[in-house]
Amino acid sequence: MNAEPITKVVIVGGGTAGWMAATALAHIMGKLPSFSITLVESEAIGTVGVGEATIPQIIGFNRMIGLDEMEFMRETRATYKLGIEFVDWLRLGHSYVHPFGTHGIDMLGIEFQHFWIRGKALGDTASIDEYSIAAMAGKAGKFDWPRPDTKSPMAKLAYAFQFDAARYAAFLRKKAEAAGVRRIEGRVVEVEQESETGHVAALMLDNGTKVEGELFVDCSGFRSLLLGQALDVPFSDWSHWLPCDSAVAVPCTLGGRNEPLTRSTARSAGWQWRIPLQHRIGNGHVFASDHLDRSEATDLLLANLDGEPLAEPNQLSFKAGHRARAWEKNVVALGLAAGFLEPLESTSIHLVQSGIARLMSLFPDKSFSEVEIARFNKETEREYSDIRDFLVLHYHCTERDDSDFWRYCRNLEMPDGVLEKIEMFRRSGRIFRENNELFTEASWLSVMLGQGVVPLTHHPVARLLDETETLNRLAHIRKVIEQTAQQLPTQDQFLQQRGGAM
Ligand code: FAD
Repeated sequence: MNAEPITKVVIVGGGTAGWMAATALAHIMGKLPSFSITLVESEAIGTVGVGEATIPQIIGFNRMIGLDEMEFMRETRATYKLGIEFVDWLRLGHSYVHPFGTHGIDMLGIEFQHFWIRGKALGDTASIDEYSIAAMAGKAGKFDWPRPDTKSPMAKLAYAFQFDAARYAAFLRKKAEAAGVRRIEGRVVEVEQESETGHVAALMLDNGTKVEGELFVDCSGFRSLLLGQALDVPFSDWSHWLPCDSAVAVPCTLGGRNEPLTRSTARSAGWQWRIPLQHRIGNGHVFASDHLDRSEATDLLLANLDGEPLAEPNQLSFKAGHRARAWEKNVVALGLAAGFLEPLESTSIHLVQSGIARLMSLFPDKSFSEVEIARFNKETEREYSDIRDFLVLHYHCTERDDSDFWRYCRNLEMPDGVLEKIEMFRRSGRIFRENNELFTEASWLSVMLGQGVVPLTHHPVARLLDETETLNRLAHIRKVIEQTAQQLPTQDQFLQQRGGAM
């Protein structure tokens, strides 16, 4: 067994995944003179060119690599995101918000939703959105940072960013190169493997350069150059659960309402995203090619923009699922090279981040212990399947039956575990977060209610509060949230005041 430390890391790919990995590794280990990080990328191949909405965990990543939030906002033309507004998902004309943070306040030791369910039975007509500071501030176009140690509703707020992904990668590149990462321009044309172990030994580039390494991080995007192609790790196909396999994306000029929210509007064979940034709006239409052809999908997108298109539509194809093992031999895949789940809940960049964190905690020595590799793969698989389950919930629980696509989604066989969660919620309003899964009880609550899963009853303890007191308390919480949201600065004011405007 060779327990010597690894000192040469090679990253293939300079998209969001490659530069996130390079920056994080350089930040943690790059200062050691014995440790080298090389990133190979090909400008001719380019990056996927989409990926703009994130979830709150990215704040931790940006802080870990030492980014100043306002510099980041300016450089990447970012806006704040307080959640996702889902339009027409339950039925045409209906909308709800999946906000970041939590709802209301817990009372009598039980979760808030039980009092909300009881309130409904007592005639309270307020939607769950009205008990979320993130949803109310988001809809009002307002933003401020959370105030965690106060009694203000702002203690319950969480936020993320919407940014220009190309600018984010360029921003990270500057940081990584300053921290000692060596970038090599070139196209990998051959992968050299050790004959005995099959480990990757070196990459041959089109300009004749040979790049040797000990640990290879595959961030080559959908090509999955090392993990999928050289090591032949199979792809676990989940398209029977998530049938969308295509997208068309186009940026447009600013127009319409630009709240700190990502919007997802359900269409006849998929959905359309709208992500307002400081200088433009990112738009895209994710669809199932079995149900809609590309030109119709593009026309539908172009007919539903709030501004003028700023580029030719970018056409993409993909398959939902992931490589059966994200780590094989001495190759760890991150980003699209490891797998892809459609951006309905903005999880791909997060999967890169969590892959990096997992790699750091299981960072190998030259023995490449199978135990650690197996742990990495098990946790990655679990994370993908937890997210998949949450995405399937959006499609399956709907009243829409206006197209073959929606009829397929309504009738699809759900993955194990989701049905149990829905059933538990329907019966008693209870939600359990399993295995530290990414989406919390608050997320499941918003989306289950938003998608029309109505609880029949609630936790019995909620009945200990008498009827008038229940309704009074609910009204009070609503009022405080509404007033707090109204008093916040608008997002534009906040960015101007804090130095985050471009
Ligand atoms: P890429 O950006 O494709 O980068 C691959 C890199 O590998 C490039 O630098 C390329 O040059 C290099 N490369 C490939 N082959 C070679 C070779 N032979 N030699 C040298 N270099 C090579 N994520 C979110 O979190 N939020 C979103 O809102 C979101 N929206 C999305 C919408 C769509 C339609 C799609 C498809 C994805 C979306 N994503 C989103 C995912 C997000 O775009 C990616 O997860 C993220 O950008 C990471 O991509 P990547 O770096 O893995 O791949």
